[in-house]
Amino acid sequence: MSIRPLQAKTPPPSSIEDARFAHESEEEFARLLDFYGVHWQYEPRTFPLKHDADDGRVLEAFSPDFYLPDLDLYIELTTLKQGLVTDKHRKIRALRELYPGTNIKLLYKRDYLTLLAKYGIGMVDEQERLAPGEVLISSSQIERRLNELGAQITRDYAGREPLLIGVLKGVTCFMADLMRHIALPVHIDFMTISSYEGDRSGAVRILQDLSENILGRDVIIIEDIVDTGMTLQHLVKMLQARQPASVSVCALLDKRARRLVETPIDYVGFEIPDEFVVGYGLDYRQRFRNLPFVATLRPEAQIEPNGPADE
Ligand code: 5GP
Repeated sequence: MSIRPLQAKTPPPSSIEDARFAHESEEEFARLLDFYGVHWQYEPRTFPLKHDADDGRVLEAFSPDFYLPDLDLYIELTTLKQGLVTDKHRKIRALRELYPGTNIKLLYKRDYLTLLAKYGIGMVDEQERLAPGEVLISSSQIERRLNELGAQITRDYAGREPLLIGVLKGVTCFMADLMRHIALPVHIDFMTISSYEGDRSGAVRILQDLSENILGRDVIIIEDIVDTGMTLQHLVKMLQARQPASVSVCALLDKRARRLVETPIDYVGFEIPDEFVVGYGLDYRQRFRNLPFVATLRPEAQIEPNGPADE
């Protein structure tokens, strides 16, 4: 018996108005994708996983929540209890075995909440009392890497005058330091773009545009951190439409493990684990940008009512 996914007969819903979401977290996720211009379809396919040996009836099937056609990627959002997640895991494993080449990603509750918290949504009480935790990248590690990145860019752009475009505000420290390690006549410019705020504001907007015309220029986009990749993809598209001679990307931090949208990064400072980080320009609710290192966040130490016991 051949195994094929069942395609919905009518076109699958691909807008908030048409979709009937099973859970409000799915609707919020759809809004986030809309905001960054990532096309999606809601539950477009059902993948049969088990058939009755006698009559071929489908005994078990799985319909991932989202399909992102441009990325050929299915996404299952799981905001459920751990017990149910285990069952989803099993189904996804079966799906991968039965339908090789199918690209599917499971977003856990934690992934989803940190994705939203990044935009200041939810978990306020929990996150309000956060403080810098472990230093992930020290000032001297940053300095060493700046030397290497600067030398590499200097070599790659020899004979040219690249235009460094920084995306505010997180990029401030990195931009200021990096440009001093490039031994070429660089130009700089900045832009500010809106980020998702969980409202109905539609799509990424330019809040403050470049002051330079980039037509025919060699542009290097300088980013603080690439996480899902949605901001960067949008930005690259937006700048490419202005017909520069070339566009490359230099990011201080790359949180590879969380990528949803693949956009090539030409120069990466550091690959970091799936942790929310602050410092060296990066903020948590506008705080901690002025730390000279990159650190994780942890709950602020609990002060015990009677103080620590003397031993
Ligand atoms: P993306 O669109 O790749 O998911 O997100 C990129 C933007 O989210 C970054 O430019 C940055 O402003 C913010 N961001 C992503 N991860 C972190 C993080 O760990 N710490 C901070 N402070 N901002 C982050």
